[in-house]
Amino acid sequence: MAKVIGHWINGQEVGLDAKETKPIFNPATGEETAQVAMATLNDVDLATQAAEKAFSQWRNTSIAKRTQIIFKFRELLEAKKPELAKIITSEHGKVLSDALGEITRGQEVVEFASGVGHLLKGFHTENASSEVDVYSIRQPLGVVAGITPFNFPAMVPMWFFPVAIAAGNCFILKPSEKDPSSAMWLARLWQEAGLPDGVFNVVNGDKVAVDGILEHKKIKSVSFVGSTDIAKYVYENGTKNGKRVQALGGAKNHMLVLPDADLDLTADAAVNAGFGSAGERCMAISVIVAVEPVADELISRIKSRMGAIKVGDGTKACDMGPLVTKEHRNKVAGYVDAGEAAGAKLVVDGRAVNPDGAPGGYWLGPTLFDEVSSNMSIYTDEIFGPVLSVVRVKTYEEGIKLINDHPYGNGTAIFTNDGGAARRFQNEIEVGMVGINVPIPVPVAYYSFGGWKSSLFGDHHAHGVEGINFFTRGKVVTQRWLDPSHGGINLGFPQNN
Ligand code: NAD
Repeated sequence: MAKVIGHWINGQEVGLDAKETKPIFNPATGEETAQVAMATLNDVDLATQAAEKAFSQWRNTSIAKRTQIIFKFRELLEAKKPELAKIITSEHGKVLSDALGEITRGQEVVEFASGVGHLLKGFHTENASSEVDVYSIRQPLGVVAGITPFNFPAMVPMWFFPVAIAAGNCFILKPSEKDPSSAMWLARLWQEAGLPDGVFNVVNGDKVAVDGILEHKKIKSVSFVGSTDIAKYVYENGTKNGKRVQALGGAKNHMLVLPDADLDLTADAAVNAGFGSAGERCMAISVIVAVEPVADELISRIKSRMGAIKVGDGTKACDMGPLVTKEHRNKVAGYVDAGEAAGAKLVVDGRAVNPDGAPGGYWLGPTLFDEVSSNMSIYTDEIFGPVLSVVRVKTYEEGIKLINDHPYGNGTAIFTNDGGAARRFQNEIEVGMVGINVPIPVPVAYYSFGGWKSSLFGDHHAHGVEGINFFTRGKVVTQRWLDPSHGGINLGFPQNN
């Protein structure tokens, strides 16, 4: 009988006898490794009740004590991250070094959140009116939820919960049903760090759990990351139910290459950003927009680098692992078929890969298309796999228009040695995160992560000061301590003097 992964509610694993479960696979072997419990509405309610009970104490726990627990969590994470990296690789498939990389980027948000004392400070104005002081404070929302995707099972949850918890909220995480073990590992780490039971909970499941979160009256906010269709659904239904929602969606990230770019640097960047994590990154580069006459030479350098990429089991010395599930692997391979049928020029065919791994793994090698046009599905759709397309354009202006016309606006990059062109690009491009000679411009933790257009629904990006604002409500206090002799009735509207 396969191991069952339950939920983490009020400091313990529950739901091991769940009526409905779904299988978890190791993508490098195709073997089933566990079954994960699918939460019912009752499970969501139990987690919410535990979080609500914990909130009354946690919100009034001193900032000093909260900071100590967050700092301890950070220390434990730093010491034990190789253990977590192995879990990520075994359920997601990405290579171990990449799994460690995602944990480190999540850890940066934990480090940011340990400065919560500074981040929660308000303003104070003495004598705003005669003997009247005014000051602002920020208070936690209460029970908040995060719903996260498969592709960063540790980092994406860590974009939200360290900030939410540091600000005094209690958190319910609904991770992807494809790789839920990282969330359970993080829950145990919080307990070891001394976080009171009920402050951090994990509810595993699918649409039923998501709808339960969206409809639960006691859950005040939802932070969602996933595909655009579901992000839109979560935003519309969450806000309809009176919740604060930030819903980060899909992406199609373009890299604009000008003729004066350093082509070795650009080819390295294109290959790393296109095929790292098998292209299953929301900040992966999936389209190169080559401003002529740069395309032929750039493609030749990219092609020679692609020949050196070792595809295989992420626990071995490989560059690129398998895709997350068999269905997803076949869907991505279907896009390669569609690109070929639509007349794009197939420069490197990943379907012919010879991996260093078990025959049952979900393998697909890196693929490169040239002469892609904007009406082909390999251009319009988010593929979320190791498929890189080159679109040739004649001018910078044509490249900018192409990128701005695309519905997604998550990340983009320009490669050039012309500072003026780069400065113009950052001004004109309609995308939330911009790299200048940097292919994956994921902001550091004290800035905020988020795209534009169909890549984000809601007003707040993740972490940084926007994260603090998302997870708190502002309050302004006007106070005076008058001598009783100054009393008396006056029904007029208060005026400052
Ligand atoms: P997904 O949309 O399938 O799943 C995301 C979450 O939604 C999961 O927790 C899942 O259980 C839940 N879900 C799935 N179907 C649902 C439904 N019908 N109703 C309600 N909830 C549902 O996404 P995924 O495949 O896990 O992740 C890949 C996607 O995430 C890509 O589109 C990628 O671009 C996006 N992503 C975006 C960012 C970003 O910052 N913008 C970051 C990482 C991933």
